[in-house]
Amino acid sequence: MKIPRIVVVGSVNADMVVKSRRLPAPGETVIGGQFVMVPGGKGANQAVAARRLGAEVTLVAKVGQDPLGDEAVDNYRREGILTDLIYRDPVAATGVALILVDAAGENLISVASGANAALTPADVDRAADRIRAADAVLVQLEIPLETVIHTARLAAADGVSVILDPAPAAPLPDGLLADTTYLTPNEHEAECLTGIAVVDESTARRAATQLLAAGARHVIITLGAKGAWLASADGQRLIASHPVAAVDTTAAGDAFNGGLAWALGRGLPIELAVAQACAVGALSATRLGAQPSLPTADQLEHFLGLPR
Ligand code: ADP
Repeated sequence: MKIPRIVVVGSVNADMVVKSRRLPAPGETVIGGQFVMVPGGKGANQAVAARRLGAEVTLVAKVGQDPLGDEAVDNYRREGILTDLIYRDPVAATGVALILVDAAGENLISVASGANAALTPADVDRAADRIRAADAVLVQLEIPLETVIHTARLAAADGVSVILDPAPAAPLPDGLLADTTYLTPNEHEAECLTGIAVVDESTARRAATQLLAAGARHVIITLGAKGAWLASADGQRLIASHPVAAVDTTAAGDAFNGGLAWALGRGLPIELAVAQACAVGALSATRLGAQPSLPTADQLEHFLGLPR
């Protein structure tokens, strides 16, 4: 099968995590925590997901001219991602997420978007040739909305599939949805976009119907352990996920989106592509962390029991 070419236009963050017994109250200091720094950002996570499965991936993003930016570019180069379109902002710092986690897994997160907020439509234009040559373009909402809109317009105008993960949740203009080939909200994001609380198949159907009417060509609502609700003009149905013993669902959505881009880029029909994306999401939920939990093609095949 062909090697899919995927372009991700999205965020790069350094996640700084302190795990401690309990979370501090405002003004309080809690001592005795443990610190780890891990690469993150939805754009970067989804790029790694598609790359580990075997796609050729270009990450269009912006980091600072700082050590965290150097580290991010090195990390993604080591992953085999094409990093020539990761720009360095002369002023803004590399995006950082400060994450406090307590013993029960409860967290407090504060994000400084930094250079991610400086990724402009003009930066996307510099990636136009790569976008036009792609099998699919993957975008999320951790970069300026005007840049997301511009990316989708540019790709759609050339008939390139646009996968939009509307996360973190935000209202979207109809023009963007009209340029979206695959819209992939989770339940919470689907509710934010439609006002319909998605709690079961019938509410998923209503929310998806509304998003199709607003212009998205396919709507895929991810439903955690249940799988994903797939809707298009051809009909609507649940694609079940794979039963797993979940230990950490951080980045399951990112795994799903990267997996979907990879599977669609290989030319798989949509139902099969969503089923494979569900498997990638499920597998990532069986392991701790975001990027460390993203599976390789071999691990996915092993999980699915497919012959090589
Ligand atoms: P998000 O992380 O954006 O909230 P979900 O939790 O819906 O996204 O997960 C994305 C996809 O990953 C789901 O549609 C499903 O296919 C898969 N997945 C997530 N959690 C599980 C789980 N516990 N068991 C099986 N599959 C899962």
